[in-house]
Amino acid sequence: MSILDWIEDQKKLKLLNAPKYNHPASDGSKGLWTRCDHCGVILYIKHLKENRRVCFGCGYHLQMNSQERIDHLIDVGTWRLLDETVSPCDPLQFWDQKAYIDRLKESQERTGLQDAIQTGTGMLYDIPIALGVMDFYFMGGSMGSVVGEKITRLIEYATQEGLTLILVCASGGARMQEGVLSLMQMAKISGALQIYQSCANLLYISILTSPTTGGVTASFAMLGDLIFAEPKALIGFAGRRVIEQTLQEQLPDDFQTSEYLLHHGLLDLIIPRSFLKSALVETITLYKDAPLKRSGNIPYGIQQNVNFITEEKNRRKLSKKTLEYENSEFKDSENTNLRFFMSFQNILKIARSINSWSKK
Ligand SMILES: [Zn+2]
Repeated sequence: MSILDWIEDQKKLKLLNAPKYNHPASDGSKGLWTRCDHCGVILYIKHLKENRRVCFGCGYHLQMNSQERIDHLIDVGTWRLLDETVSPCDPLQFWDQKAYIDRLKESQERTGLQDAIQTGTGMLYDIPIALGVMDFYFMGGSMGSVVGEKITRLIEYATQEGLTLILVCASGGARMQEGVLSLMQMAKISGALQIYQSCANLLYISILTSPTTGGVTASFAMLGDLIFAEPKALIGFAGRRVIEQTLQEQLPDDFQTSEYLLHHGLLDLIIPRSFLKSALVETITLYKDAPLKRSGNIPYGIQQNVNFITEEKNRRKLSKKTLEYENSEFKDSENTNLRFFMSFQNILKIARSINSWSKK
């Protein structure tokens, strides 16, 4: 080895061993510079974003947030959010080192999302699709009751409208802070998918990104008619150490990577990010003429999707009625129809709760 080679080696080692710089106020997705998790090269974030967060040095696919993925996949100006107001609560009043409710608030402020997923509809080169994108920056993309509910509603909407469904997974698994309410989402989503796939015969493509683990892998991530993955993505159920300790066996180095899973028949395709959109379009176009395809009716009825506009409309409608009632002359009249009064009481109750909710 020449002295120049030695210096080059030392430089690489230093880069690899250097601690990753994290500004206290940043989450790694902000700031000017970042470091590739795979080869250690320092990357200018502006250029990295233009390159869809693919490393210039080694081609490694770094993490993307949900908005970047939507911008990358959906045609400009066609994205329409569904259920953007559904927000999590704290049914178990869970507390570890910090209260769950505080963790939620902090993640909501940092990411600008209500929970770890965005769902909606949009156009993919003029083909209408239903899309759900998980966000790993929101509490590790964990699946709580809100994520489960939003995915289920998206699947039901896609079933009714006969849309192709695409879910982009990036998750650490079920959210432990919500206990069994998180776990039941696995079965709930699988139930909705069964109707979508087997009764309505529609196409569901699941896209696995790094990392897809735990309860998400055990439910909808692996239920796709077609399962795509990004190169070198970490995909698995339990962690590597747990499996090694249980089996008392040494696992291969590439265990739980997308290449390993493709080799063992768990995936259909590994596709680099830059070709993802065109691959999806080609697949959907190929499937377009499938003879058995039809949109379906949900046997147990569909939950109405809400967005900010409908919610605001409802709120105004109810507060107007409340006002009318309070000013009306039959407020104290004995002739008031009891049933009318009872139903009005209910409306008032709802209006008050919505009012108090909107003040929060
Ligand atoms: Zn790299």
